[in-house]
Amino acid sequence: MSQIVALTPGEDGLDLVRFDTATGEMNDIKKGEPQGVLVPGWIDIHFHGAFGIDFMTATMPEMKELCNTLAQDGYERFLPTTVTASASDVKRAISNLPEHRLIGGFHLEGPFISPEFPGAQPKEFILNPPEGDSEWDEIFNDKRLKVITLAPELPGAVELIKRLSKRKVICSMGHTNATYAEALAGHDAGLLHSTHTFNAMRPFHHREPGAVGAAMTLTPFRAELIYDRVHVSPEAALVLIQTRLVDGDVIAVSDSTMASGLEPGTKLKMWNLDCVVGDGEVRLADGGSLAGSAVTLRNVFANLTQDFGVEVAANLCCYTPREALGITDHPEVWNLVSEETGELIETYLVD
Ligand SMILES: [Zn+2]
Repeated sequence: MSQIVALTPGEDGLDLVRFDTATGEMNDIKKGEPQGVLVPGWIDIHFHGAFGIDFMTATMPEMKELCNTLAQDGYERFLPTTVTASASDVKRAISNLPEHRLIGGFHLEGPFISPEFPGAQPKEFILNPPEGDSEWDEIFNDKRLKVITLAPELPGAVELIKRLSKRKVICSMGHTNATYAEALAGHDAGLLHSTHTFNAMRPFHHREPGAVGAAMTLTPFRAELIYDRVHVSPEAALVLIQTRLVDGDVIAVSDSTMASGLEPGTKLKMWNLDCVVGDGEVRLADGGSLAGSAVTLRNVFANLTQDFGVEVAANLCCYTPREALGITDHPEVWNLVSEETGELIETYLVD
């Protein structure tokens, strides 16, 4: 392969640049057909596990194994994500985080969420944010905490948002029944993201636009989107992408669970819930509601490319999450992908 094409940030948006691997010459794309498009490695800020490994119960060697597998999958960085659980269970999970170039910290999802929108989060551990000193302080003060998903309408949530945003933890509304006004109050306190927008939040209504309306219109703001084509329809995703193009951003996340990479029909116990793996999804055995996704960002990138084009996919999976995490270094990983299907052709680690 002597000619590949890089998609790099230009003055307005992304520019396509031809890169000749034999001579090292770069010029613009207009002449000739590219053999593929080169984009930075995936950055996934919402990831519970994959290949049978769940962050809440994984050992450190298992987490390392997960990192090595994800490196083959084109990942540059991810945030292992906890679920609603006791403080001691969360502490145990984060104590098993290895030092690894793929791990960029962790995402605390719950337990400070709305009991009305638990999704597959274990309901019995849902709490209001603590007032004063608590057993959660050690977690709140952990330098590796990068994102917290909480419901901004809960008593004490605004205080917690102020406290954490002050030290640059990204506060993200999710599993929330917030009205538009409650989301706005959270935003005023420092809330900057929405977690898996549309899923597990008060839906849009034309007289009460709710958390979804806020996720589309607040600025500055970034909205997470699970794009496995199961959690959110292509049309709803288009609404979010087009709305946020005006003055904001969308971040693709996998919300991957231990079910990713397992055979459809596999039964498993996840977060103490009986679940069944489907085709690119995982559902509760009891009732059939979605229990998270069964895709990684590699699949999400392909879906986005097929439905919205490779530039949108690169923005959502590579560039916007880099910006959100404040990563300013050059990418360490470059993925060569098909411009039509978004399938990963090869992944390169740059030393
Ligand atoms: Zn999640």
